[in-house]
Amino acid sequence: MQTKDILEFDRTHIWHPYTSMIDPLPVYPVERAEGVRLHLADGRVLVDGMSSWWAAIHGYSHPVLVDALARQAQTMSHVMFGGITHRPAVELASRLVRMTPAPLERVFFSDSGSVAVEVAIKMAFQYWLSKGERRRTKLLTVRGGYHGDTFETMSVCDPENGMHGMFSGVLPQHLFAPVPSPAFGDAWNDAHFEAFETLLRANEGDIAAVILEPVVQGAGGMRFYSPEYLRRVRGLCDETGILLIADEIATGFGRTGTLFACEHAGIAPDIMCVGKALTGGMMTLAATLATAEVAEGISRGELSVLMHGPTFMANPLACAVACASIDLLESSPWRERVSAIETQLREELAPCADADTVADVRALGAIGVVETVRPVNMAAMQRFFVERGVWVRPFGRLVYIMPPFVTEPDDLSLLTHAVRDAARDPRLFS
Ligand SMILES: *Cc1c(COP(=O)(O)O)cnc(C)c1O
Repeated sequence: MQTKDILEFDRTHIWHPYTSMIDPLPVYPVERAEGVRLHLADGRVLVDGMSSWWAAIHGYSHPVLVDALARQAQTMSHVMFGGITHRPAVELASRLVRMTPAPLERVFFSDSGSVAVEVAIKMAFQYWLSKGERRRTKLLTVRGGYHGDTFETMSVCDPENGMHGMFSGVLPQHLFAPVPSPAFGDAWNDAHFEAFETLLRANEGDIAAVILEPVVQGAGGMRFYSPEYLRRVRGLCDETGILLIADEIATGFGRTGTLFACEHAGIAPDIMCVGKALTGGMMTLAATLATAEVAEGISRGELSVLMHGPTFMANPLACAVACASIDLLESSPWRERVSAIETQLREELAPCADADTVADVRALGAIGVVETVRPVNMAAMQRFFVERGVWVRPFGRLVYIMPPFVTEPDDLSLLTHAVRDAARDPRLFS
């Protein structure tokens, strides 16, 4: 197929994320991805500013990951996980147990982030059912969150940008506290936690778990909030016995400057979800970790087993690549790299703040965000970025970069300068 035919067939037959089949936005055919560069079919080369949605932390086609995949493929690409175990799964679980906060020690593997969150929620509900507490059917979360696109996960996404209106009647109803505040780095005041605490206390006996993204809210708004808020949530959960689920799918594996974002607050959740960068962006894989208390609580109940088991659970290819990716991360100076990226993002994006088109500029770890006043014109701004030789995909009122950790300063400058110029260009907004 020629590029023209690929584009034509794609346009007619294939759904892309969140797109129309009547009037789809343009897509760019990528032929190859290597290091921090995407090679387009027409020969243009783009510096990647997205890590393919938080995932490709080592860049693309990293030889260590390619090698791990090839070697595993020669031995065993997949085998069912019911009644069978294998070295890649055990080696990966041992790494996850070692590197996540101490009480998390039981691991459930699944094939995507949304499923990992579904499993976390199922664990929480089953934990209370096992104790005979049938009333605890509610989740408490915060506005501005994103936890996935399946139905239960959608029900805890931000109610405004999470399609709750559209699916009301189908979605379970849960409890929403306001967007967490203050912003990361701003002074704490107890008033910031009042609404959350009031809501939790008013519904205490109905709540199975609190679920939130620790410190950084990703796709629901790219906001960074005070670790003290998270410490307060942990304190209240300890006091009431309500479980705390931390969704680290976007934040895990160094993105925010600590290995996991919970570390900013020095807390451990009862259940934690990881995905995205788990395999360095090479394969789809996710995991839900739980404490012994949660895992054994479930197993002491009437059902005694956790009712979940995806067909491709603990896929050996994905597990082998994840082990290689974690080893690569741990043997690299990732803290220094992420910290240098943060400093550069902060300095080079700062000038955006002066533009009338810009509402806020912020950076944390390897995440730089320019929040705009008006929604971007996605197609126009996307074209602008491609013409500038960078891959940045804005949405709504957010233009942001989260580059691979291996991005060199010159390449990062290409990204920040393009974002700076886009954010100041009124023609690129709708
Ligand atoms: C991306 C994401 C998910 C969903 O993961 P998928 O692999 O897309 O299903 C869940 N939670 C958070 C915080 C995410 O960023």
